[in-house]
Amino acid sequence: MSQQGTTWPVLKRLNRDYLRPHWGRLVLAVICMLFTSVCMGVFAHLIEPLIDEVLKPGGSPLLYVLPGFIVGLFFFKAIAEFVQNYLMERTGMWMVADIQRDLYEKLINQDMMFFLQYSPATLSSRFLFDLQRLRQALSMVVAGSMRDSSMVIAMIANLLHKDWRLALMSMVVLPAVLFPVKRIGHNMRRYANKSQDQAGHLAAVIHEGFTCNRLVKTFTMEAHEVNRANQSIDDARDIMLKTASLRSLTSPIVEFIGMVTFAGVVFYAATEVRTGNLTAGGFTSFITSLLLIYRPLKGLSNVNNMMQEGLAAAARAFILIDQKPLIVDAPKAKPLHLKKGEVRFHNITVTYPDGTIAVTDFDLTIKPGHTVAVVGPSGAGKSTLMNLIPRFFDVSGGAVEVDGQDVKTLTLQSLRQQVALVSQEVALLNDTIYNNIAYGRPSASRKEVEQAAKDAAAHDFITKLDDGYNTLVGEGGLKLSGGQRQRIAIARALLKNAPILLLDEATSNLDTQSERLVQEALERLMKGRTTLVVAHRLSTIQNADLIVVMEKGRIVDSGTHQTLLKKK
Ligand code: ADP
Repeated sequence: MSQQGTTWPVLKRLNRDYLRPHWGRLVLAVICMLFTSVCMGVFAHLIEPLIDEVLKPGGSPLLYVLPGFIVGLFFFKAIAEFVQNYLMERTGMWMVADIQRDLYEKLINQDMMFFLQYSPATLSSRFLFDLQRLRQALSMVVAGSMRDSSMVIAMIANLLHKDWRLALMSMVVLPAVLFPVKRIGHNMRRYANKSQDQAGHLAAVIHEGFTCNRLVKTFTMEAHEVNRANQSIDDARDIMLKTASLRSLTSPIVEFIGMVTFAGVVFYAATEVRTGNLTAGGFTSFITSLLLIYRPLKGLSNVNNMMQEGLAAAARAFILIDQKPLIVDAPKAKPLHLKKGEVRFHNITVTYPDGTIAVTDFDLTIKPGHTVAVVGPSGAGKSTLMNLIPRFFDVSGGAVEVDGQDVKTLTLQSLRQQVALVSQEVALLNDTIYNNIAYGRPSASRKEVEQAAKDAAAHDFITKLDDGYNTLVGEGGLKLSGGQRQRIAIARALLKNAPILLLDEATSNLDTQSERLVQEALERLMKGRTTLVVAHRLSTIQNADLIVVMEKGRIVDSGTHQTLLKKK
């Protein structure tokens, strides 16, 4: 997406999708802002009578009225300012929370390809940091621009009222201030985008260092990782520095031009006072307004920068929101009509987006309740095959059928409900053991959860824990052994009780005792289910109804353990 010309569409969309519900509050906030500006305008105006009337020798009755009036004025201004600030902050926070909700819902429904394209760290970074910038920008931009512009208008009104020629003269300078500010704004937007990219990249590098720490240690690549991180940290720093220096440049430029104007005006005003066109009070009031206009004007000059940063963040969030997953229900998708649970790969070909052909001319039927073990070297296409049944990926040729129904014609939900997956990398949530098992079927009763744990040979070790089923696992919780994690995953799959089972066996690195327990649990899990297993255990291979040997995406041999043994 190009940088220029996206400001309006992004703003319009923010307004249409996220700002609209808040318009009532925004209007109230604007009224409060207008009120504060009017207060300041009135105050600047009052300087004139204050000096010319109240402070003149002999005094005036205004001496007692005016200070009281000013106190009252500022009291109400304080209240209005609070209301205005609160409403603006609230709007910003609600808006970002709404975007986050939409974004998360879109992200969680993305297909597997998407998650291969974006690392988890990049996505978190966009979700948290990017949108945080947007929130800051929104509160500051909307509040700031409204407040500052109304203030500028109030002050200009007073300037015109006091001496219109002088006022016009000082205003000639405005475009001179705004031009460089606009230019800087454009560059800011560009750098803001780059710096957010860089932040995402840094997050990804750091995240990898932590999550793959064992790998790093095994290969003693610490120094390499440090170098990689340093590079990324330096890049992030440099790009942020560029953004910051641009941002810092804006104020001095505005300030300098402002002060040149100020000096000119003072010079000219002095002659006006001398010729009697302006009183001393009028002059002071004029100068006060000029000084008071300075801060909001400076604020307005920053608003554009902030807005560009915020819009860059919003645009990036919209890109993610708009990305359509490729794997979705077909327009006329029907729910799976499950009969016996037969799975058929009908002459399939799978090509990845980068052109890699992972599986070709693959034809295989898994009879209901049968177990097919797929073996073969790494890269043969075994995992790809597994991902086709629950439609994590789509075939590029041929069809995958469950009970004679092409999976592409079925609703994803009905299909995936009938498939359980137990993979090498056991994913456990940061939750209790109970909830981790119940994830397979949240409606399950306690008895059913415990029965599943018993069948998975997990009940005994769970009940020996201090908190039993309520023990927290994962980050900040109990560290489970590899075998224990697998048995929890098996219990989860048992509870789901799906007729089709996908099993990605771990290359056995468990001790014999643990291995035996896992093995028994797996046998109970596979019983009566149509199972496709990427097999590593000899026992699994021996017990399989059919063994398929894969190489380079093709079946090179198949048969039972016996027939294959005879051949080789
Ligand atoms: P296995 O599970 O037998 O090790 P895979 O199914 O993982 O094999 O991979 C089969 C082929 O597809 C390999 O050549 C691999 O490089 C390729 N492949 C796997 N995943 C992707 C992907 N996301 N993008 C591109 N190519 C891939």
